[in-house]
Formats: sequence, structure tokens, C-alpha cells
Amino acid sequence: MDEQGKTTGMVFDIQKYSMHDGPGVRTLVFLKGCPLRCKWCSNPESISPQYQVMCLAEQCVSCGWCIDACPAGVHIMAAVGNGPPQHQIDRAATCVGCGVCAGSCSGKALRIAGKEMTVDEVISVVMEDQFFYLTSGGGMTLGGGEPTFQPAFAGAILRQVRLNGVHTAMETCGQSTWEVYQELAPCTDLFLYDLKLMDADLHRMHTGVGNERILDNLTRLLELGANVLVRIPLVPGVNDDLKSLSEALSWLEKASKTATGLKGVEILPYHRLGQSKYRQLDEEYPLGDMAGVTDAQLEEIETILSQFNLPARIVKNG
Ligand code: SF4
Ligand code: SF4
Repeated sequence: MDEQGKTTGMVFDIQKYSMHDGPGVRTLVFLKGCPLRCKWCSNPESISPQYQVMCLAEQCVSCGWCIDACPAGVHIMAAVGNGPPQHQIDRAATCVGCGVCAGSCSGKALRIAGKEMTVDEVISVVMEDQFFYLTSGGGMTLGGGEPTFQPAFAGAILRQVRLNGVHTAMETCGQSTWEVYQELAPCTDLFLYDLKLMDADLHRMHTGVGNERILDNLTRLLELGANVLVRIPLVPGVNDDLKSLSEALSWLEKASKTATGLKGVEILPYHRLGQSKYRQLDEEYPLGDMAGVTDAQLEEIETILSQFNLPARIVKNG
């Protein structure tokens, strides 16, 4: 086992047989930790780099077993209002990820988000499906969270997958240093690069950070000749006005005149699939009851896309 293979990082999920997030059949490896706080995030368990306990309260039978089992005092029994004591999670306590509570929960209510894995362990899972990659032109996609939040771990995985002759892709929000992207670019066959808003103040308001570094890294990656597919999440009340989308498309159309690596633009309409996970983390869903993008809006957006000289499409259910 070499030193890189022993590098460890925090993974929160590995999904096989995906047909999204890059060409062919893919294995998606999701790393934990993200520098952004997008209100529409569908993976809230990906944001913190720490272990987190997720609890399906409706399945808890308040047996209290987890309270005795947990070495870190994460599980407690406490009354809610005037009701009887029931199981709750002390979010101020630090879970050490031992998994004992989830493994033995009588209601199957618990799940631990986060698993420390070595690069070799990740590679071993990824390479189980080598046959499918070969026959479909697929490969592995690193996602998150934000893979560049764990740059050494992400780089070691990408390099090893590449050495094994498998296609590599990386989803990224663009919020890291240029040095990190420069390091990862030679072992990343395709960047799936998020572009949310062109206005820096609005970007800060909706994600917690400005977009200056994101646009700068995108520009530099395109100048470097990297293959980049830009993805724009379409979120009502955030960037579904036609002005915002047109600004992004205009910027990309200009960039595409010199950037041969710009593979296209995908518009990803907002969905509420992650909402239940916020409840499992005792967090409030930031977008409340906000409705999704309507068919009429999508038709309007199709018209806008046709006005730009870019390979652009709306990915429904993406
Ligand atoms: S072990 Fe499971 S069912 Fe029992 S109190 Fe804990 S979370 Fe609830
Ligand atoms: S994973 Fe271990 S430390 Fe974390 S809450 Fe469960 S029993 Fe406690």
C-alpha cells in the first residue's frame, strides 16, 4: 500500500450505476464538507465536514437503547413541551462516527452521515464496476459537498482512478484556490462546474460567498483547455428571472469563442428532494414552501437558450 493510498477523507455516500453526472455508467463518490451555504442544497448532510446523526423521528420508538450505547452523549431523552420524554439528539455533542447507535437502533431510525475512508478503500469500490465503465464509456465522478474542500484526498482518488484507465469527472462549485484546481486539472477528464449567479452580491446573499473566485477559476480552467460542462441550478426567486440567466449565458457564449473545452451548459431546475433530510438533521428547510419551476417558465427558458450560440439544454429530473 503506498502513502497516497492510505490518505483518508470523509465520504458521505457512494452511488453506483448512475447515468447522470458525466458520460456512461458512473460511480458517484460524494465527499463531505462544502464552503458554500446554498439555500436550495439537496444534500444538507454534505455541508459539514464532521460526522452527523440523521434521525427519522417517525420511526423512533423511544426505546432509549442509543442513549446507553453512545460513547459521546449524542443521544438524550428529553420532554418536548408538556409531552412525555422522547429521544432527541444533542447537536452540541460531538459524534465520533462509531456507528454503534445506527447499527442497533430498534426502529431503524438512525443513520450516520460521514464515513472516514482511505483512498484505497474508495478505489476498491469504484473499480468493482470497471466492466460497466469500459462498455459504456463511463467512469467515476467525485461530488459532494465540494470535492476541493478535501484537496489531497480528492486528488489522490482522481489520480489513482485515472492510473487505472478509468474516466474521471468532478462536480465543483468553483470555490477553492486556483492552486488546487491547477493540481486537480491534469487528473480530471471533465469538470461539472456550477454557475449560480453572475451578480456577486446576489451570489453572496444566496450562497454565503461572492462569485469572484468562482468566475476566476472557471476562466482559468477554460484557458487551460480543461473540459468543462457548466451547470446552472435554476431556483425560483434566486436566479429564475430571465436577466440572471441571460447574463450567465452571455458570459459563457463569449468564453466559448476561445475555449474549446467548454462542452456545454445544463440547466438544472430546482427540486425539493432534499427537504426531508433537513428534518432528519433538526434543521429548518431554508426555502420553506417555495414552489418549483413551472412548465411555462421552462418553455420561456427554452426560448432564451435558443438565442445563444451554445450547446445548452434543460435537464429535467437531473
Ligand atoms: S435506538 Fe433508535 S428507536 Fe431507540 S430511542 Fe434510539 S433512535 Fe429511537
Ligand atoms: S455514531 Fe457513535 S458517537 Fe455517533 S451518535 Fe452514534 S453511537 Fe454516538
